[in-house]
Amino acid sequence: MSTTTVRLDQIWADNDPRSSGRFLRVSAIDGDRAAVREVGYDVTNGIAVDLQRKRISRIRLDRFRPTSSGYRLVVDIAVRERLSGGGTVWHRPHPAHDCARVCNWHPLACSASGTGLAVPLTAVPVDLRRAGERWCPTCRQP
Ligand SMILES: [Zn+2]
Ligand SMILES: [Zn+2]
Repeated sequence: MSTTTVRLDQIWADNDPRSSGRFLRVSAIDGDRAAVREVGYDVTNGIAVDLQRKRISRIRLDRFRPTSSGYRLVVDIAVRERLSGGGTVWHRPHPAHDCARVCNWHPLACSASGTGLAVPLTAVPVDLRRAGERWCPTCRQP
């Protein structure tokens, strides 16, 4: 099973049916674990809300895959390409680009030669809803 690079500010859903409706936002990555905090997430509108008094948990990075004891990605961190004719293609940042969202230029996962775009990273629902938006087929989540 292919794995997704875990990035700051992604939101993952608990894939265990007993924990249905539990959403976690990545707040830090530390070695082989991610620190996450539970958030409210409106699946229909793609809006996340911070919850008060939720503790930070630390989860091994290898659990961030959609097994029954794992997590599935619902909001990814992406690089926006604006098409000249209107519309947007969302790319994933290159996995080797270890980024805390502070820089303003991002190499794309689909480019072996390191082509990038000078835009900030944006939180984007994996299931795109707006007209004129699509994922880059090469960068797209498995
Ligand atoms: Zn791409
Ligand atoms: Zn960056």
